[in-house]
Amino acid sequence: METTGGDEAASVRDYFDKVGFERWQKIYGETDEVNKVQLDIRQGHQKTVDKILDWLPENMDGMTVCDAGAGTGSLAIPLAHRGAGVSASDISASMIGEAETRYNQSIAAGAKAPAVAPKFEALGLEECTGEYDVVSCIDVMIHYPDDRVAAMVGHLASLSKKKLIVSFAPKTLAYSILKRIGELFPGPSKATRAYLHDEGEVEEALEKAGFRVTRRQMTATSFYFSRILECERV
Ligand code: SAM
Repeated sequence: METTGGDEAASVRDYFDKVGFERWQKIYGETDEVNKVQLDIRQGHQKTVDKILDWLPENMDGMTVCDAGAGTGSLAIPLAHRGAGVSASDISASMIGEAETRYNQSIAAGAKAPAVAPKFEALGLEECTGEYDVVSCIDVMIHYPDDRVAAMVGHLASLSKKKLIVSFAPKTLAYSILKRIGELFPGPSKATRAYLHDEGEVEEALEKAGFRVTRRQMTATSFYFSRILECERV
C-alpha cells in the first residue's frame, strides 16, 4: 500500500490491524468489556460524532461523503442511514472490515439503506480519490506529525466540493502535560505515537487549501479531547 509517512504510517496500520483493532473496536462498540478510561473515551468520542451529525442535514439523499480514516464507521454509518452516498476508508483493513460488518448488521436490523450503497475500502488517507460534497476526517490527525499535516489537509481539501470537517487533539499546555503524564505510564495498547496539533497551524493549512472555518466545537472529557472544525470552500 502506498502511503506518505513511510514507516510511521505502516506502524499505525499494523497497530490498528491487530492489537489496536481489539482495543478500538471495543471502545467504538457497545460491549461492557471496557475499563473506566475506555468508557470515558467512548462517551467523549460519541459526543464528537453527535456534534458533527448535528451540523449535517437529517436528509442527505443525493449528497456524497468521503469519510477518511473512518475506523469502525461511527460517523460513516449514520450518514449512510441519512441517505448519503458514502465512501468510507481506513488504512487498517481490520477497522474498515468491521465498519462494513456493522453497516450490514444495521441494514439487516431495519435501518434505512441509501440509494447508493456505501463503499468500504482499506486505503491510506492520501490514496482517497474523487469529489464529494462533504469530506470528514475525525480523530485521525493524532497519527500525523506536524510536518505531514499541511499535505494531509491539502489532500482532503482537494476531494471536497463544499464542506470539510476535521477533528484533532489540540496542542494546549494542559493537554501537553496530560499527554506527557500518559507517556510516563505506557500501557501495552499505547503502541503508536500521538501528536497534538496547534489549532492556528491547522487553520492556516485549511486556509491555504481554500477553506474557511465556519463552526467550531470542543469535546473534552477526562481522557478524551477533540477540537472539531467545520469548514467551507471559499
Ligand atoms: N474516524 C474514526 C472515528 O472517529 O470513529 C476512527 C478514529 S481512530 C482514533 C483513528 C483511525 O485512523 C484508525 O482507524 C486508523 O486506522 C486510521 N488511520 C490512521 N492513519 C491513517 C492514514 N494515514 N490513512 C487512513 N486512516 C488512518
